[in-house]
Amino acid sequence: MNLVACPDCDHQVSRIAEACPKCGRPLKHRQTTTGILAALVIGLLLCWLLVTFILPRLGIWYPV
Ligand SMILES: [Zn+2]
Repeated sequence: MNLVACPDCDHQVSRIAEACPKCGRPLKHRQTTTGILAALVIGLLLCWLLVTFILPRLGIWYPV
């Protein structure tokens, strides 16, 4: 069995469940939102690194 404890009521809920059957707290949706936010932050960080360090070194673009 693949169970996790609900953060709100500690009820054992299946990992694939969309929401806790006892209190109705959405479980899967929260993880997806966190994943999208993490991907966005990593993407922005990579863009910042590219613009600040890599492009000026290659002589393609100079920050003012
Ligand atoms: Zn719950």
